[in-house]
Amino acid sequence: MTPITTFFRNLEAKCCAACGQTINEQAESYATECFTCQEQASFDAYKHYHQKR
Ligand SMILES: [Zn+2]
Repeated sequence: MTPITTFFRNLEAKCCAACGQTINEQAESYATECFTCQEQASFDAYKHYHQKR
């Protein structure tokens, strides 16, 4: 049986891995960064991708 309560408990107290602020949004369970940092990371990856070309 899956310990579903533990799963949701882990979701509750999530903090951003990048800036450390608490994530209040309903982020995906595997997201370790807040929305702002995810946006920033995506933008950096986008820039990096285009610089390589
Ligand atoms: Zn963040």
